[in-house]
Amino acid sequence: MKYDVIIGCEVHVQLLTRSKAFCSCPNNFGGAPNSRVCPRCLGLPGSLPVPNRDMISSAIKAGLALHCKIAELTKFDRKNYMYPDLPKAYQISQFDMPVCAGGYLEVTADGQSRKIGIIRVHMEEDAGKNIHAQGGLNMSYVDYNRAGTPLLEIVSEPDIRSAEEAVNYVQSLREIMRFLDVSDCNMEEGSLRCDANINLWIYEDEKRFATPIVEVKNMNSFKAMKSALEYEAERQLDEWREKHLTLQAVGKTTRGWNDDRGETVLQRMKEEAADYRYFPEPDIKPISISQNLIKQIKQSIPELPEQKRGRFVQDYGIAQEAAEALTQSKALCDYFEEAARGYQEPKRIANWILSEVKKLLNEKQMSIEQFPVPARQVTELLRIVDAGTISGKIAKDVFAEMAASRKSAAELVETKGLAQISDTGELEDVVEKIIRENPSTVADFKAGKQKALQHLMGQIMNATKGKANPQVTIRLIKAKISGN
Ligand SMILES: [Zn+2]
Repeated sequence: MKYDVIIGCEVHVQLLTRSKAFCSCPNNFGGAPNSRVCPRCLGLPGSLPVPNRDMISSAIKAGLALHCKIAELTKFDRKNYMYPDLPKAYQISQFDMPVCAGGYLEVTADGQSRKIGIIRVHMEEDAGKNIHAQGGLNMSYVDYNRAGTPLLEIVSEPDIRSAEEAVNYVQSLREIMRFLDVSDCNMEEGSLRCDANINLWIYEDEKRFATPIVEVKNMNSFKAMKSALEYEAERQLDEWREKHLTLQAVGKTTRGWNDDRGETVLQRMKEEAADYRYFPEPDIKPISISQNLIKQIKQSIPELPEQKRGRFVQDYGIAQEAAEALTQSKALCDYFEEAARGYQEPKRIANWILSEVKKLLNEKQMSIEQFPVPARQVTELLRIVDAGTISGKIAKDVFAEMAASRKSAAELVETKGLAQISDTGELEDVVEKIIRENPSTVADFKAGKQKALQHLMGQIMNATKGKANPQVTIRLIKAKISGN
């Protein structure tokens, strides 16, 4: 059977503004329940919302990075529904005049790059959190700390054609939001949440049939997202074979992903816009956005990951894969560029960061922002290796020590006496001793066995605690043996 998987994503990202969307309560994660609330975010009678300027500029910034058109005039609307964590019984959102619309995001899947359309980006406030008591207690609590925190909802066109592409789309989106510094997009803390609409186009009898659209919720990790969408495509295919249900007959439904059971579970028929009785928020005037403001915000947009990757490959001559690994965060890019500045082999800097720095970050469970070794110290260490003062192998140990002690490479090499022994006179005694003690290996070497040389080198390295300069040592071994 020939069919296409059709996916559109709705992504919510929490903005990193200092205060909430419509009041001056701090916009932070966690904390004692109900410690960051005021009459406005609790929706008490008589309190009036005031839109946060930073929320609006963050929305414009995100929209520009996603190639959207920015509205000259935008407004807020009330989206009505009743839930305990929504104290006003409506959410301030945007309905028919979103701040940004009509953009795209370029996504790579299977080595191919495709443009995924962005229908709109709009601002809204978040709800609080219901906390259901554990251990058989029949009680629920509400924490309103999150109520009124600013969100962007980014809605894609149904342009995505596989679970893998959907994951790549959300990952690219997260990367861009992080580079823009508008959201930390932390999935565990819920500052990035994704729902997906998925159905199939089935080609049968020279006709195209659309299966009912399902909105999949509760995808709390990229792994869950991939599994949920793959499962849902399979489920819809089976359902089509059995019942031939179409979108026209059934409409849309909402299903939740159950990660433990590895399946989606029917939750309800999907609400349509009419169910929410949207109407303009009467307490906030429509907002006009000047070309001047857009221009200003445009200038504040940093170089984005895609451009950076291209430039890294072009300017530094590093491989595409390395460029992708380095552009995972802006801080990592900055670290690389600072270390590579003025160093003749940027590739080696990239390798060092992707192997040694990453290894220590994993071991210490820290981010590059917290890493104690300044970028210039990486350059200094590699220069010491280039000068032949220490070997690349010892440099790795020195680097770990630099991270632990915060001492410089030069200082550690000096105080710990790590410098390689390159002086022929100093090495001669050791080489002679090893040759004397290993007559059969020497015979092997004379018979042309390359392994014999490695064996002798290994013994000399042991005797000098790895400090013998390999080039000088090899020269000495060869000279001594042929001289004998
Ligand atoms: Zn408040």
